[in-house]
Parts: sequence; structure tokens; C-alpha cells
Amino acid sequence: MRLYYIKITIFILLAAVIFCLPIHAQSEEAFTLQEKIKFYRQIIKQEQDPQVLAETHYKIAELLETLGRDTEATAEYLKIILNYPRVAYFSKKAEERLAILYGKFKETPEITKDPAIFFTYIKSLYETYRDQGKYDKAVYLLKKLIKLHPSNQAYYLDIGNIYLDGYNDADTALKYFNKLVELNPEHPSVYTDIGLAYEKKDDVENAVKYYRKSVEISPLNAWSMYGLLRMQALKLAEEKKLVKDWYFIGPFDNADGKGLEKDFGPEDKIEDLNKAYKGLNGTNIKWFRAFSYADSGYVDLNKMFQVNDSVVAYALTYAYSEKERDLEIRLGSDDGICVWFNNQLKFKKDVTRPAQFDKDIIKVRFVKGWNKILVKTAENWGSWGFYFRITDSNGNTPGDITFDPLKDDNRVKKIYARLKRQKGMQIARTTFFYGFTLLILLLAVYFLISNIYNKIKIRQMKEDFISSVSHELKTPLAAIKMFTETLNMGRVKSEKQTKEYYATIIRETDRLTRFINKILDFQKIEKGKKIYSFEKVNIKNLLTSAINIYKDQVQDEKLVVEEEYSDDLPEIELDEDAMLQVLLNLLTNAYKYSKVEKYIKVKARAEGNLIFISIIDRGMGVSKDRITKIFDKFYRIDRDAAKDIKGSGIGLAFVKSVVEAHDGEIAVESQLNRGSTFTISLPIKREG
Ligand code: ADP
Repeated sequence: MRLYYIKITIFILLAAVIFCLPIHAQSEEAFTLQEKIKFYRQIIKQEQDPQVLAETHYKIAELLETLGRDTEATAEYLKIILNYPRVAYFSKKAEERLAILYGKFKETPEITKDPAIFFTYIKSLYETYRDQGKYDKAVYLLKKLIKLHPSNQAYYLDIGNIYLDGYNDADTALKYFNKLVELNPEHPSVYTDIGLAYEKKDDVENAVKYYRKSVEISPLNAWSMYGLLRMQALKLAEEKKLVKDWYFIGPFDNADGKGLEKDFGPEDKIEDLNKAYKGLNGTNIKWFRAFSYADSGYVDLNKMFQVNDSVVAYALTYAYSEKERDLEIRLGSDDGICVWFNNQLKFKKDVTRPAQFDKDIIKVRFVKGWNKILVKTAENWGSWGFYFRITDSNGNTPGDITFDPLKDDNRVKKIYARLKRQKGMQIARTTFFYGFTLLILLLAVYFLISNIYNKIKIRQMKEDFISSVSHELKTPLAAIKMFTETLNMGRVKSEKQTKEYYATIIRETDRLTRFINKILDFQKIEKGKKIYSFEKVNIKNLLTSAINIYKDQVQDEKLVVEEEYSDDLPEIELDEDAMLQVLLNLLTNAYKYSKVEKYIKVKARAEGNLIFISIIDRGMGVSKDRITKIFDKFYRIDRDAAKDIKGSGIGLAFVKSVVEAHDGEIAVESQLNRGSTFTISLPIKREG
């Protein structure tokens, strides 16, 4: 019953959603502009079709313009250009509107329409894309902006840097930097970036040339200083071999300033790190390989992490030594630094000073094989990074040290296995999610279909019931009518025949009455109106009288009923009438569904607090898959063999209800074409 309510609820909810959507859409006309915008935003959340999304953004933008909220409208137009460039119609229209808005901003630079707002907004938008690694979007936006505002120098620098650091494409970066040089040959920082681009191309000569140029143009500029440092680093890198392969984790928030003091060991304690320090902006913390520092000895963390506050980060590398020996780690840092060598803290300094090679020397003993070097750096302000190199006691780099952790087979395998595991987990999670959703959908469909199916089935069973009931009524009525008419016409001559005719009329009338009573009784039970009156009854007597009544009813000489009762049958409390009907029903079935051998055995025995009564026949039996259904009301087996047997499908439902009202149970064992045993168990002493 509860299931039924759940099904109905699901159905109503679905119907409500389906019906409410058009209603919602229809009332669009009545919206205020503000509400319309809200409504369109809702659509954006639910829609996936780019065409519709582009159009909806466009509508929002138009409304915003009508409301005089030009900056917000700009954002909407930009979203169309950025996200749906393929929806040509709207993206072109958006571009046109953007150009008009830009003109408007230029012409009326009042407080609310300040072009600065326009550009600040767009700048932060592409910076966000860039920081999220969505370089395509950032570049797309920058190119549009350059079209609108070709004299803005910052755009060339920004787009060039995205090509340089994001795409690792030094050539395209150089194109943009050179355009900037055309616009402003005295630009304070472009030459440093050009130098970096050449560094990336391994063109040391040009790199040094441009760093030098930056120093010449503005000697006191921070960028020029940076170029100078890189120049020195490049020279060092040329001369001595420096560590290349670093893995990084971070940045962690170091707002309390304690990050540098607290020591965490190797990379497998990332969990602990995570607990103690949160990644900035709630980022996921994981180790990754450096990609944007030049391989020149200076590890520039500013380029890898968007530092905007006090932070700490970890850098990890492995150095392979062919033999065990004493070596030195020489380092210099922009800020605080800690160094662990093979999991032992070897160096801890919280100083602020420019990189100074060869001053802080850590003496360590290298083991044969891979040696782990873990560095932690902290930044309070300004630049963030460190210089690093491994030397012998004379400051020379030993030629046989390898700094490529990926050459370590075991490590590669471990990393690979971990990645595979992660991927596996991801696939499992996705599969589980979709599988689960599909399952729910299937269940919902199953319930809906089974509901409809059940309704059809019940209706059909009811129709069958009515036709079989009319059949059962019609047969005795026809017989009564025929015999009464014959008698009435005085056609029956002999006394004996007259008596026989009367007897038949009485028998058929009795059958009719019994049948009608059976239906009335069943109806009472169905409505819960059946009242039982319990009294002590002798089971043996009850069974014998049921058999006699039945034999009398059928008047079939071929019927054999065998009885087998144990001696200890006690009296039990029963509603005698109801139980008699139960037995008659079971006897009727045993007789009806036995076509060849009309043999019935009735057994009764007591065991513990129970009495077991079995009605056994050698008839056609019931197949296993139907056995649970035969107690359902109106259910009839439509097997060929049982086709001509009359019935209404309520007999066993009645039996079950009466037995259960006596706190008893009914069980059935049956074998097709071998026979059935219906066993009622009743408590001798009922509770309550
Ligand atoms: P009906 O009026 O059809 O006999 P019942 O509720 O008494 O209705 O029985 C339901 C179905 O169970 C019958 O249609 C019949 O197929 C099957 N059934 C009941 N008793 C027996 C039996 N002794 N042997 C074989 N089949 C039986």
C-alpha cells in the first residue's frame, strides 16, 4: 500500500514538473525587467544548447542595457564571445554591441560609465581565466581587447606572457613582445620578458643581450634587477651543472608565519600538510613538476604559484649518486628556507636576503643510489625562489650526479601505479554515479509500468470473475426453470420421476444459495465486516460432517474420501460455520481439480500447540511459479487442463482470510499432474 503511495507521489511530482514548466513560460509576459533577467538566468542554469544559451545571454545583456547597467551588459556580451564563438549570429551581434558600448564609455567618461570600470572588469576576467589555466579563453579575450584598444600596451605584455608560460610557445610570445616594443621602445619590463623567451628557446646569447638592454633602459627598475639576476644565473648554469628536476607542492597559507618552523618530512605526508596548512584559495594540494622556471639554477616560484600573500611551498628532487661520498649542497634564497636531506632536517634559515651562492653550505653524505632533497621556502613579500646546486668540497659540480627522478624505475612505477589507481577510482566513481542514476530511472519506469500492468490485470480478473459468477448463477437457474416448467405442464407421469425432479430443484436451489452465501461471506470479509463467533469445537466431528455434506452435495459415486486422524485431537475454539466453509472450499477444489482420479484424503494431527489439517488430492496440481498467486482474490489459473472447470477465483482468498482470522496459517505443496496438499495449521490455544 505504501509503495502505491510512493508511486502516486512520483507520478504527481513528474506531472507537476511537466505541467508547471509551460505555465512558468507562459507567464513570462507579466514579468518586470528585473524578473525577466532572473528568469533568463534560471534558463541559463538549466539549458545546455549553446544556441539557446548565447541567445539568453544576449537577451539579458539587452535588458541590462535598458536598465542602464552597461558594465554588467558588457560582461554578458563578453560571455557570448568567449563561450559561444561558434554561435556566429549572436557572437557577431555581441561584438557589435561591445564596440558601441566601448565608444559610449570613451565618449562619456562620467562616474558611472568610467572606462576604467570596463577595463578593470575585463582585465580581471581574463586574468581569472589565465590563473585557472584556461589559456584559450584568456587569449581569445585579449585578442578581442587588442582589436578594441590597439594602443593598450599591457595587453601585448599579458598575451605574450600567456604564450610564454602557459603554452610554452616562445616564438608567438616574442611576436607580441616585439609589437609592444614597436609601440613603446622604452617599456620598463618588456625586455626582461623577451630575455625570458630567448632563455626558453635556449638562445642564451640573445637572452643575455635583452637582459642587458633592460638594465640599460631603466637601471633602477625592479624588473631590470631581475633581468640582471637571471643573467648571472645563466652564466652560472653555463659553467656548472645545476639541479633541474624539481617537484613542487604549494603554496600553503603561511599567514600565521609558523609554516617555516613546523617541519614536515617527505612527500608521503601530504595529508598532514593539508591538515596544518590550507592551499591558497582552497586549492587541491598535490605534487607537480615545475614547468615555468628556466633551467638555469634559479627556481622562480613566483612564476609557478600566483602568490598574493604570505606563503610556504615545498620543492622536492632526487639526486642519483654512483657511490657513497661526502658532498655539499649550496643554496641561496630570497627568503626563509629549510632543507631536508634523506628525511633529516639539515638547514633552517629565516633570513631575507638576495640569493648568495656558496655562502650557506650544507655538508651531507650521499648514499649510493637516489638521495632525496626536500626544500621548504617561505615568502613574506617580494620575489620568491631559490638558487641551488650540489658540489664537492671545492665548489665543483661532480659530473656523475643525475638529477632526473624519472630515471628511477621504481619511482616511475610507483607514480604510474598511483595515477592508474586515481584514474581507476575516478572511472569507478563516474560509473557508480551514472549506474545509480540509471538504476533509479529504471526503477521509476518499472514501478510505473508495473502499476499500469497491475491495474489492467486486476480489471481483467474482475471481468473474468463477473463472467464466471454469472455462469455459476445461470446453470442452476436454467435447471430449476426447466424442471419446474416440465412439472408445471404436467408432463411427468410417474411419482418417482416427480420426486426426482423436486429433489433436483431443491439441490440446485441449495447450490445457488450456497454460492450466493459464499460471495456474500467473501464480501463481508473484504469489507472487514465479518464477525466471528468462537466456541469449542471437536475437530474430528467438524471434518467428518464437512466430508458428509460435501459428498451429499456432489452425489458422485466415484469420489473416494479417506480419513486419517490421530487420537489425541483436542477440542479447539473456532467459528464453526466459517471453518466449515473453509473445509468445503478445499474439498471442492480437491474434487474440481482432480479430473481422472477423484480421490481425497483428509488428515488431522496435533503437534505442540498446533493442529494440522491436510486436504490431499491426486489431481492436476499447481506449478511452482503460480503457487504463491492462487491465494490472491480473483486469481484463476488459465491452464488448458483447467479451462472448463468453473470457478470464481475467490475460494482460496476466502480460505486464507478465515484461517488468518483464527491466527492460523495455510500452506500448499503441489506437483504438476501429481496432486496437491493444502495444510491448515491452527493454534490449539489462541492468545488473547
Ligand atoms: P476457483 O474458484 O478458481 O477454484 P480458488 O481461489 O479456489 O478459485 O482457487 C484459485 C486457483 O487455484 C484455481 O483457479 C486453481 O487453478 C488453483 N487451485 C486451487 N485448488 C487447487 C487444487 N486442489 N489443485 C489444483 N489447482 C488448484
